[in-house]
Amino acid sequence: MAEIRFENVSKIYNKKDKAVKDINFEIKDKEFVVLVGPSGCGKSTILRMIAGLEEISEGKLFIDNKLVNNLPPKDRDIAIVFQNYALYPHMTAYENLAFGLKIKKVDKKSIKARVMKAAGILEIEELLDRKPKAMSGGQNQRVAIGRAIVRDPKVFLFDEPLSNLDANLRVQMRIEIAKLHKRLNATVVYVTHDQVEAMTLGDRIVLIDKGVIQQIDTPSNLYANPSNIFVAGFIGTPPMNLIQGKVINSNNGILFTDNSQLFKVNLPSDHPLINHVEKEVVLGIRSEDIHNQINGSEKDFVALSCQIKFIEKLGHEIYAYIQLQDQQIISRLKPDAEIMKGSRINLYFDIRKMYFFDTITGVCIR
Ligand code: ADP
Repeated sequence: MAEIRFENVSKIYNKKDKAVKDINFEIKDKEFVVLVGPSGCGKSTILRMIAGLEEISEGKLFIDNKLVNNLPPKDRDIAIVFQNYALYPHMTAYENLAFGLKIKKVDKKSIKARVMKAAGILEIEELLDRKPKAMSGGQNQRVAIGRAIVRDPKVFLFDEPLSNLDANLRVQMRIEIAKLHKRLNATVVYVTHDQVEAMTLGDRIVLIDKGVIQQIDTPSNLYANPSNIFVAGFIGTPPMNLIQGKVINSNNGILFTDNSQLFKVNLPSDHPLINHVEKEVVLGIRSEDIHNQINGSEKDFVALSCQIKFIEKLGHEIYAYIQLQDQQIISRLKPDAEIMKGSRINLYFDIRKMYFFDTITGVCIR
């Protein structure tokens, strides 16, 4: 069992800098939860509070319903894997794996059994007599993960474990960490600034900005139902197109203008924007929902005359960069789309896939 619960937790550095602001959330037993957000948003601080490496300034942290604010790290039964591996350079991989158990006075035979089991899981048996300097970044990271596994903790914490690896290796290790979670059947809290890593690994994602939780949800819900502009702009590659504009009339649908073009959007009659006389909004639409042909019923699309500023051919699809007045947006088109840089064409925006955000609060109106 390992449930973690934050109740109104804040972290204040130097008596004034609030790095984490009044967070509330719960991590379930055996769940894989990813803390994600831009650099400096407070995710490592949250992880370090779970580990007991950082004091909690305000609020309560519970592990398995036990208040742990003042429990030393060694008594928390938690293992942490760091970005820089933090291996002892003068020890072999075997000794690095065995070290924690040796300190705990586990007998030699059991140590060997546990080290060999972890080495087997991570397929690093042949590296056990090597020192960190004689191993690649990926191999060192495996040993670092192995050191966490041998302790058989109830919670695994990962702090940007893949950031030092090259792109290919990162993808490979990502898959291995996902497999490892299934195999270990343990609670995992994983910190990354990389939204792709978060989306592919997390059962649930906690998205943080400036010390404040923006949304806690499954990857698919974060993508489909972003609660605000920050979430919409952070999740997805390329990020959601966000067009500043104004609703100027909402009789039977709305009229939206980005100050260059005016277009009518037929929204369902119960949409919150219906019957607004005038309101500043941001229109959000993902690049895959802007097409060069109507696919389905005409009433579901808004046609906009767009100038193609730039084209990127990626093989399996084309990114078309479009200038709308002073805003640039991206459309992802099929690889056989016949478009040319500089040309003006009609693009069709799927009304069913549009989001509207309050310009002032950033909150999704829908
Ligand atoms: P992240 O992991 O999301 O990059 P951190 O949790 O490391 O962010 O940091 C959150 C904020 O707290 C940042 O503004 C950072 O500068 C600040 N911070 C982190 N550690 C300390 C510290 N020991 N002393 C003072 N400020 C810190």
